[in-house]
Amino acid sequence: MAQIEKLYQHYLKNPVICTDTRSITEGCLFFALKGDKFDANQFAEKAIADGAALAIIDNAAFAKGEQFILVEDVLTTLQELAKHHRKHLNIPVIGLTGSNGKTTTKELIRAVLAEHFKVFATKGNLNNHIGVPLSILSIADDIEIAVIEMGANHQKEIELLSNIAQPTHGLISNVGMAHLEGFGGFEGVKKGKAELYAYLSENNGYAFVNAANRDLTEMVDKASVKNIVRYNTTEEGAVSGVLKHSDPLIEFLWSFNGESHEAKANLTGTYNFENILAAISIGCFFGLSAEEINKGLADYFPTNNRSQLTKTEKNTVICDFYNANPSSMSAAISNLNGLTGAKKIAILGDMFELGEESASQHQRIIELALKNEIETLIFIGHHFYNTKGDFNANFFATPIEAAAFIEQQNWKDALILLKGSRGMALEQLLPLL
Ligand code: ATP
Ligand code: MG
Repeated sequence: MAQIEKLYQHYLKNPVICTDTRSITEGCLFFALKGDKFDANQFAEKAIADGAALAIIDNAAFAKGEQFILVEDVLTTLQELAKHHRKHLNIPVIGLTGSNGKTTTKELIRAVLAEHFKVFATKGNLNNHIGVPLSILSIADDIEIAVIEMGANHQKEIELLSNIAQPTHGLISNVGMAHLEGFGGFEGVKKGKAELYAYLSENNGYAFVNAANRDLTEMVDKASVKNIVRYNTTEEGAVSGVLKHSDPLIEFLWSFNGESHEAKANLTGTYNFENILAAISIGCFFGLSAEEINKGLADYFPTNNRSQLTKTEKNTVICDFYNANPSSMSAAISNLNGLTGAKKIAILGDMFELGEESASQHQRIIELALKNEIETLIFIGHHFYNTKGDFNANFFATPIEAAAFIEQQNWKDALILLKGSRGMALEQLLPLL
């Protein structure tokens, strides 16, 4: 503890944490983390030479003087420092997890709350055991409220991240077929995500719950959370909404305390409506006016390849190639099906981390896609390829093989869904569309 306090005093003088010697700034604290391929202990000397105030290391062989702080474990020390900082921050922290839509919901909440507060929100997707402590340590003194994304692919991870971020408020966007391998199936996903509710329950926090989602209502009741703010229900005092359409962008009505408001968002995908209602519910809870909430939503434009509508010279592409799993894939296919007025094409890439359910889930997605009114279906990747059977669609083992086919198609004025797991890097096909 004395060591953490000492580090914290340094941090207060210059609150910059670096974990990469390519981005050392004068006076920063360098944490020598270990990755799959490297051990940053060996870069500690360079970090100090480049200007770091201290290098936190866990291998005595690299200690070269007073500026080298030898600890038992660098990662745990980083997490402990973040916890320490969090304890000094007297602000609400909204912890956010879920299988799908975390980053989108986080950005929507940030956009809404920023109309009224000085907000910090997780940058990009820094949502894991390193990203969450780094996020917490990026919260400056003048911040009034923080939104922290927490990702997980196995049990006890959300518990660890909750203990670091110490959320006073929490939201689980949904539970779905994601990271089935690490969680041990869907029930495992529910158990793992419910660790956030357990934290809120033990610490008298507030849970924002989509009342229309049976899994979430069951989980929150089981965790005996006392303070529950339900939304997406017509109960008195709750935020409710009616989706007018998502064709291609979302327009809807929302109500709170007997007043209804029309609103729009620059997002496509009916599935994003629940993410929007979550942000509205949080905005209402923290006392924002309907005007502020609607302005925050209207001013948010996704730039992160999640449900991002992009006009190319020839076609309109739904860029959704940031990631994919069976739940988000189904949602994206149904959304494409519901759009009107253009030739529809789906280019779908493999979904990773599904463990023993991989083949059956890829098959289910092929069957689902074939049931919809999509004129051209292209499946890319070895998982889809190995499941292709006699299905009447186009299958390619790699994006390069698919590219040769796509180049011959000469599509024009089409609406194209481009979605797959990150590792498929489907963005390489965008220039052809
Ligand atoms: P990651 O686990 O990579 O951090 P995430 O949970 O932050 O993902 P986003 O990046 O916001 O999720 O969205 C990824 C994709 O998930 C979207 O582009 C969309 O296809 C899908 N998605 C978003 N919201 C939902 C939802 N509520 N239900 C189902 N799918 C959704
Ligand atoms: Mg994310």
